[in-house]
Amino acid sequence: MTQSMSKSEVKKIDQFLQKIRQTVTRVDVFCSALLLQVWRRVYYVFNKREVYASLEQRKGNCLRCGRCCHASFKCQHLAYDENGLSLCEVHDQKPLMCSLYPYNEDDFFYHIRSTCGYTYHS
Ligand code: SF4
Ligand code: SF4
Repeated sequence: MTQSMSKSEVKKIDQFLQKIRQTVTRVDVFCSALLLQVWRRVYYVFNKREVYASLEQRKGNCLRCGRCCHASFKCQHLAYDENGLSLCEVHDQKPLMCSLYPYNEDDFFYHIRSTCGYTYHS
């Protein structure tokens, strides 16, 4: 005997599927951010001149959203001021890789590319 599902059952299935989608997205973002963090270091080592030439083409400014500082793991040095703007607690000694982000068109965490204040487009 078949019974049609009640509205509450349909809603529960929908919520369950939504949670799966959210989890998949989070895992995707985390893994891609981790990969970029590794890749950008390797790329820099072998392409320093290109990286610095590319940085001269970079436009815009950092909006201090802080999102690149917790693209995968949240950095222990990330803080926020009273206006919600990010602060690097080790700003004067921050790692080189931090100060170079984003160093070319490909050096963006894909999930925050559109909100970053930097761009390589005119
Ligand atoms: S994501 Fe872009 S705008 Fe936001 S803190 Fe990083 S560099 Fe600055
Ligand atoms: S060291 Fe500073 S700039 Fe680098 S990830 Fe941490 S908070 Fe961000």
